[in-house]
Amino acid sequence: MAKVLLLLGVVAVVVLLLKNYRRSLERLEAPPDGGASGAPSAPADMTRCARCGVHVPRAEGILSGGRFFCTEEHRRLGPEKP
Ligand SMILES: [Zn+2]
Repeated sequence: MAKVLLLLGVVAVVVLLLKNYRRSLERLEAPPDGGASGAPSAPADMTRCARCGVHVPRAEGILSGGRFFCTEEHRRLGPEKP
């Protein structure tokens, strides 16, 4: 019986350690900025403009014909000619 209690205790400690470990990993992957402050500090999904080569967040650019552009003007001008 004592062995079973010991085993349960070990299992409980391992589970607690795993929970703490996973929580620390989540904290590393997703810093708690919440997004409510308005400042997007985390490097967003950056994509290269097909016209000028500038890297802009995907959300701020324009996707057209499978190509990505940083501004509406560059989308109109089209991709850089080789
Ligand atoms: Zn551009």
